[in-house]
Amino acid sequence: MNTENEYMREALKEAYKAKKIDEVPIGAVVVRDGEIIARAHNMKEHDQLASSHAEHIALTKAQKILGTWNLQDCDLYVTLEPCMMCTGLIQLSRIRRLYYGTSDPKGGCLETVIHVKQIPHLNTYPKEIYADIMKEKCSEILTTFFKEKRNRNKHKNHT
Ligand SMILES: [Zn+2]
Repeated sequence: MNTENEYMREALKEAYKAKKIDEVPIGAVVVRDGEIIARAHNMKEHDQLASSHAEHIALTKAQKILGTWNLQDCDLYVTLEPCMMCTGLIQLSRIRRLYYGTSDPKGGCLETVIHVKQIPHLNTYPKEIYADIMKEKCSEILTTFFKEKRNRNKHKNHT
């Protein structure tokens, strides 16, 4: 089996966990030496913290587990293209390879709203970025979530 898809499937499992607790379904895993060392999903509403994004929590966990901020031998898999904050954290954590599922037209700061690799003089990590890993599934879980939420709200307003 394609290992990229295998790890992205694990990130998707995290996204489904988020969905179950009514969080925007985004998930992430950190992989080192072929092993998942940290996993997380979006927890913004439960934590009431703007920083509780899936990849932010996963990277923090990995740094605590390894006892170092330097994750240069780690790869990150995340279902949605990272935002500005997470792109910054990914860079500072020196993530080696980043794999993401679907791009974010409103907030994606790797290759969509901002092209991080094109910022002059910025010594950017990750060195390698791979987009569109299991794109359909990663995007579908988000569109379904928002559609269901809209329908629920519509229903609420009519009763
Ligand atoms: Zn983020």
